[in-house]
Amino acid sequence: MSEVDSSCIFCKIIAGEIPSKRIYEDDHHIAFLDIFPAGRGHSLVIPKDHHVDIHSMAAEVYGGIATAAKKVADLLQSRLQSEGTTIFQMNREAGWQTVFHAHMHVIPRWSNDGLHKPWDIAPADSADLDALHTLLTE
Ligand code: 5GP
Ligand code: ZN
Repeated sequence: MSEVDSSCIFCKIIAGEIPSKRIYEDDHHIAFLDIFPAGRGHSLVIPKDHHVDIHSMAAEVYGGIATAAKKVADLLQSRLQSEGTTIFQMNREAGWQTVFHAHMHVIPRWSNDGLHKPWDIAPADSADLDALHTLLTE
């Protein structure tokens, strides 16, 4: 029996109540084309069970999503002849998540596709890095 949130749009997509362009399915996951794509072939990989985000699921569940995303990445790469792949996965409002059913974005990339990283690159302060390293490993 799947865990479902009846108010969740991705649960509705899984149930077929909202149409989607599915490109992959296995026992525990589906993948479909994003309707507001960052680029050609932008797809979303989701678990069939309703899990809100990375922090609310077992590591094995996350691993299953990542495995499905790898298969979807290979499918997109081989069919679209993309030159690269970007995968990202947002969690919670502060992490830019907007649909609260966990998902991985798989985005085929081309060197001239015009996408850019959403942050400015600047060197870290070395004292900050030291303090962080201590905090995370103590
Ligand atoms: P997030 O911002 O939560 O990481 O990503 C949510 C994604 O879901 C967005 O890229 C958005 O375009 C996509 N999305 C939202 N609603 C729908 C829908 O009804 N169908 C499809 N295929 N994608 C959706
Ligand atoms: Zn859901």
